[in-house]
This record gives sequence, C-alpha cells and structure tokens, in this order.
Amino acid sequence: MSSVLDIYIDGQFRASESADSIPVTNPATQQVLTNAPRTTMAEIDRAVAAARAAFAEWRTVPAPERARFMMRYQMLLKEKQDEIAEILSQETGKTFADAQGDVWRGIEVVEQACNVPAMMMGETSENVARGIDTYSLIQPLGVCVGITPFNFPAMIPLWMFPLAVACGNTFILKPSEQDPMTPNRLVELFYEAGFPKDLVQLVHGGKEQVDALITHEDTKAISFVGSVPVGQHVYRLGTEHLKRVQCMAGAKNHMVIMPDADKGQAINALVGASVGAAGQRCMAISVAVLVGKAQEWIGDIRDALSKVAPGGWNDQGAAYGPQISVQARQRILSYIEKGKAEGATCVLDGSGCTVEGYPDGNWVGPTLFDNVTTGMSIYKDEIFGPVLVSVHADSLEQAIDLINKNPYGNGVSLFTSSGGAARKFQSEIEVGQVGINIPIPVPLPFFSFTGWKNSFYGDQHAYGKQAIRFYTETKTITARWFSSEPVGDANMTIALK
Ligand code: NAD
Repeated sequence: MSSVLDIYIDGQFRASESADSIPVTNPATQQVLTNAPRTTMAEIDRAVAAARAAFAEWRTVPAPERARFMMRYQMLLKEKQDEIAEILSQETGKTFADAQGDVWRGIEVVEQACNVPAMMMGETSENVARGIDTYSLIQPLGVCVGITPFNFPAMIPLWMFPLAVACGNTFILKPSEQDPMTPNRLVELFYEAGFPKDLVQLVHGGKEQVDALITHEDTKAISFVGSVPVGQHVYRLGTEHLKRVQCMAGAKNHMVIMPDADKGQAINALVGASVGAAGQRCMAISVAVLVGKAQEWIGDIRDALSKVAPGGWNDQGAAYGPQISVQARQRILSYIEKGKAEGATCVLDGSGCTVEGYPDGNWVGPTLFDNVTTGMSIYKDEIFGPVLVSVHADSLEQAIDLINKNPYGNGVSLFTSSGGAARKFQSEIEVGQVGINIPIPVPLPFFSFTGWKNSFYGDQHAYGKQAIRFYTETKTITARWFSSEPVGDANMTIALK
C-alpha cells in the first residue's frame, strides 16, 4: 500500500499535488495504513471539468449498453468481494463477516443499476387531443457528487455512483477520510470493468473539498450520507447554490418489545441490532422500549449482551470490532459517564473493555442503561457505539407517542405476536423504515432507503426508483405529425383543441 492514496482525475489514478494528508489507521492497532491526500482546489476543478466533458459523450450511450458495462462491474465486484472485504476490515476494524455484508449490500445496488433501461422508461399518452401525443423522456442531469461516511465504505459509495452513472451521468466521489482505501478499490474495479475514462472521479479530503464540490457551478446534484450537523450544512449549502440535494443523516432507532413478543427472538434480535457492527450502523437499535411486563426482561437482556464481546477482524469469537477512532471511543465513554451522572441505571458497563492481543484498539464493550428518561442526553443524542438505553412504556400507545416525539426517523422495530398491534404501529409511527419482528429493516435496493424527519433532508431517497428520479430530469414532449401538407394561416394559439 502506497503511503499516500491516489486520487482519480485527468483520466487516471495519480498522486495528488497536495502536501497535506490525513492518516488512515487500523482501529484495532493504530497502525497507519496509508494517508488520504487533501485534494487541492485546482484538482477539484480539474475533476469537475473532466466529469463535465465525459458527460457529453456518456449521455448519448444507449441505456442497454450502459447496463452491460454495469453487468461487468457487478461480476467483477462479486469475484473480488472477499479481497474488498479484507481491505475494508483493515481500515474499519469490522469483523470479516460484517465486512463481507457491507460489500454484498453494495453489490445488490449494482445489480439494481443493471436494470436501468426499464427504470428509465418514460410515460406515453396517445391522442391527448386530436392527432396529438404526449410522452416523457428520462434524461441524465450531468455531474453528480457523492459524499460518504465511514461506517459503510463499500455499501454507501455503491448506493450512489453506479446508479448515477447507469442513468447517464458522470460522478465525483469524496469518501470518508477515515476509511478511503475501500472506495479507491471500488473505483479501480470500476475502470477494470471497462468503463470509459473520466466517468467517475475520486477525490479525498474533508470539509474544504466537500464545500468546493457543492458550490462548484458545474455540479448538479449532491448525495450525502453522514451525521445530522454535517447533513444540515450540506443541505443548506447545496440548496442555497440551487443544487438538487439528498442527505441521509443520523439516527436514534427504537425497538418496542411488547409483553406478548417471543422473548428469546426479541432479545437475540436486540443484541445483534444494538451492538453488532460496534453500534456504528445508522439503523442500529439504540433504544429499547420495554412495554408493561416486558420491563421484567431487563436482566435477560443484560445477560445476553454480556455474552458478546468485540475482537480482531479475523477472530472467530468476535461479535464486532473496535470503534472507528480514538476520538469516537472517547466520545462514547463520555456518554457512558454522562448517563451515570444523569441518574440512569448502568446495568452493564463496557467502558473498561480490553481485547487480548490488541492493547491499543478502540474497544468499547456492550453497555446497557435502564431507567432512562427522554430528557437524558444518552436518550436524546446519537451515541453511535455499542450502548443500548432502555425506556419504559405502559402501553403501545405510549410507546408510539414517545417515538413520534423523537426528532429522528430512520428506523424502528416492533416485536409482538399481535397482528392488530403491528398494524396500528405501522400506520401510526412517524418513522420511515419499520420492522415488524425484524430488528434492522433496511430495504433491498428495488425499494428505497426512506428515513424521515432529522434522518433525511431532501425529497428523493437513496436507491430504488427514487434514486432514478433523483439522478434524472423528466422531459415532457407534446407532438403532432401532419398526414398531408397543411395549407393556410399559421396557428398562433397554444391551446390544444
Ligand atoms: P460525518 O458527518 O462526520 O462525515 C460524513 C462525510 O462528510 C465525510 O465524507 C466527511 O469527510 C464529510 N464532512 C465531515 N465534516 C464535514 C463538514 N464540516 N463539512 C462538510 N463535510 C464534512 O459522518 P461519519 O461520522 O463519517 O458517519 C457516521 C454518521 O453517518 C452517523 O451519524 C450515521 O447515523 C450517519 N449515517 C447515516 C446513514 C443514513 O442512511 N441515514 C447511513 C450511514 C451513516
């Protein structure tokens, strides 16, 4: 691995001219794996110019041909999925199984992108007036931009550039500076699959590079995934510059456990969903809402959580890996202290967690708080670590009311054996992705990823049909053809008779 990661501009992978870079570390060991260059502003300009020039040709390539390129990319990703997962494990600390899942969920979106000819079909209406037909064409936008977070360095870039490119756009990817090696490999494989040069540009860096891409006059659409404060900044800056923007942001996801739920299933699901992937999933369950007699299960939940532990990426016994950074771990530990100071009951404390063989890893063990109230910061804030808080409700109505008052709306789950309760819940809950006896209801890519409230800013969501709308314009054509040469005065009215 080179000591500074390449960028892709000017039709090739090349070293950035920047003298400034950000170290990329293995979170289990603190070993510096590589450095991400802070791409210069001149290079950003070149990336946008090249993407703009490539668009002129790419937009004319027929959709079935674009889909065939994508099929080759999908095959290559499948062939290389374990190699990508290994890179991903090194820079995120994810267990190998979890890293494989990250890659696979991305490949599923590429499969969907292969379906682009059908997804880009417009609508036709014959004879809207005598002899006149109206039909729509779905056309690409131009240069699209993707800004991605650290927690899914394969899946989330693959939510974006394959669909944008399949629609006939060109794309500039600015991945997380914390784990940029995986996105670099994804873009290398994109070109190995045979795509023409310059369709996807890859730049590295942080806020300065993001802001330059958003405000550049030649970028048309911005896809962002990350935290709420940065999402709000990107949405405001993007819309102020009249860009099309979609921001998938942070979360605080609840699992409601009714007393009639299958207890074993519910607790197993809760453990995996709360501390799996080190609690660093935007769809992780971070609040358990125990209804009525289910409040008595807190001891069983603690026992189940205390049986899982973090470990190295290829350690068979590891349930999850380290936190992404030293700072992320410290932030989580400070929330554990805050929870204790605010009066919640800490029934399992993972702050002293160590892992044999990895003395420098960013470890946090499973942590559980009971008797949490909605005014506490451990309830209100996204902690993004393996910390589960438990709140109590007397009824399903009370649980729904509590969740609807929460400003986030990414995911929610209900465990029950009552169809009536499930139906009421799915109808009344103000959250965009609902699991019924499913802990992490991430939709497959033929649906869209539909977070609500502070978990999403924009109107068209990631992947599925909504992504096709996001990355395209609709052109509506009204046409009349004459069967014989008309004779007479020019018709100056626009009314259709
Ligand atoms: P982050 O907001 O810190 O970073 C996301 C991206 O924004 C990175 O590429 C980063 O370089 C860039 N960035 C950081 N600060 C910036 C600034 N001030 N101005 C402009 N750009 C900036 O997020 P993260 O810590 O990498 O990822 C975790 C967050 O992402 C969590 O909040 C999680 O819930 C959220 N997330 C949401 C979804 C979703 O679909 N809703 C999916 C995954 C992650």
